[in-house]
Amino acid sequence: MSHSFDPASVDLPRGHYIGGAYRPAEGGLEMHRPSDGVLYAECPVAPAELVDEAVATSHAARIASGWSSQRPRERVKVLHRWADLIEAEAPTLARIEALSSTRPVEEALTGDVAITAEQIRFFAEMADKEGGDLVPTADSELGMIMTEPYGVVGAITPWNFPLSMAGWKLGPALAAGNGVVIKPSEMTPWSTLYAVELAERAGLPKGLVNVVLGDGPVTGNAITAHPGIGKVSFTGSTGAGQAIMGNIARHGVKPVTLELGGKSPQIVFADADIALAADCVTRGITANAGQVCVAGARLLVQASVAGELAEAIRAKMEALAPGETWAGGRPLSPIVSERQIGRIEAIVTRAIAEGAEALTGGERFDRPGYFYRPTLLIGVTDTSPAVTEEIFGPVLTLQTFETEEEALAMAQHPTYGLCSGVYTRDLARAMRMARGIEAGTVWINRYGRSRDHILPTGGYKSSGIGKDLGREVYRANRRQKSVLIGL
Ligand code: NAD
Repeated sequence: MSHSFDPASVDLPRGHYIGGAYRPAEGGLEMHRPSDGVLYAECPVAPAELVDEAVATSHAARIASGWSSQRPRERVKVLHRWADLIEAEAPTLARIEALSSTRPVEEALTGDVAITAEQIRFFAEMADKEGGDLVPTADSELGMIMTEPYGVVGAITPWNFPLSMAGWKLGPALAAGNGVVIKPSEMTPWSTLYAVELAERAGLPKGLVNVVLGDGPVTGNAITAHPGIGKVSFTGSTGAGQAIMGNIARHGVKPVTLELGGKSPQIVFADADIALAADCVTRGITANAGQVCVAGARLLVQASVAGELAEAIRAKMEALAPGETWAGGRPLSPIVSERQIGRIEAIVTRAIAEGAEALTGGERFDRPGYFYRPTLLIGVTDTSPAVTEEIFGPVLTLQTFETEEEALAMAQHPTYGLCSGVYTRDLARAMRMARGIEAGTVWINRYGRSRDHILPTGGYKSSGIGKDLGREVYRANRRQKSVLIGL
């Protein structure tokens, strides 16, 4: 069954969402649909005063509702009902997501929405299982480590997987007993608003979560600087992450989780299953048109199989057909904006001018919207921005190596360390690579996250601080207090 829809038929939530009601706002930042470039809405920008109100509303709702002081199982029940409602409303959520973002409706439905519901249940289940500790002391004393929520968490999310990124932040923060002020990306705010509306329908206290719309410099800054925000959880680019750390430091001290960018290698040894590797490598750079933090953008291949692998990847890339996100099926996604597709063009053009060759791609599709052809670049230099910078598009560079030592050295990026893929039939080599690669995740003979939400995700080096998913993210949403009792 096709889930295609008419983009004009979708009712978008309007305005900020504060205290359980929409706060309409006029004007704002122009929003264009990536699939056809049509200007369809404006995103309001919340000033600092509205962020103040959102933070105060979250604090008040948390106290009045007893969200963090009640039996934790009560939180579990509400979050489970929220996940159920997300599933029940999946078609609406998927259409809202597909309209403004780069997520084809079919993928939004079976991927983003379904996984978000699943992950909210996963985080919910920690609320009454994760706790503090009793510690060894003299018998005349009792020492314990208590954990408690931060109060209000400030969450800031990117545009590339709007709903699931909101779920990554809201699920653990709420399960851990916090209120949240969340700012979705100014390019794709709608699914977050609707998801929060659903949470309240499921029984979440009104005003516990408030959604403020806006950009980084105004609304984002107001959140990270706010003294009433106990912790910041951010996913986005490394540049914005650096700005956020600086802003927090200028206004005080508070913990910050940063899930940032990457330039991840996929390393294929000659003994690998080449058909499997071709499939995984291609999907690893073309899923969501390469606009994925974990995109496997640097292919490192043992020289003896480079030709065979390149040919297999070229054929797979050329088989991908673009399509509007509302067209149904599983088309190649558009690029999010004219600005971003222009940046991709500039990096590829420069690489070619410096001597690289595009085995396929290297240009836009000739059609409305912002669609870029999956591109395989060979003959790139080590210092080319195509090799060093996060492109956030369907552009794969191919470089060859002779030995395992050389592969490991090439895999390390000077600043990024988010993910990596290794393809080999030699288990000992796979484990040597897994130990040696400086990255927060290593996938072996596969590429991409599974639905095992227990595996934390997060970067080394400038790819981030802290983790999302796993037990770690729940724990990071609570702070520790030592209590020592003289008996
Ligand atoms: P971005 O950094 O431009 O924006 C992300 C969010 O931060 C947006 O909501 C934006 O308004 C806000 N923002 C920007 N500057 C800010 C500032 N100074 N203070 C506060 N908020 C600010 O990123 P993007 O283009 O939306 O997303 C793409 C980036 O996100 C890529 O670099 C990608 O790798 C990264 N990403 C990382 C992960 C991960 O798990 N590591 C997941 C998804 C995306």
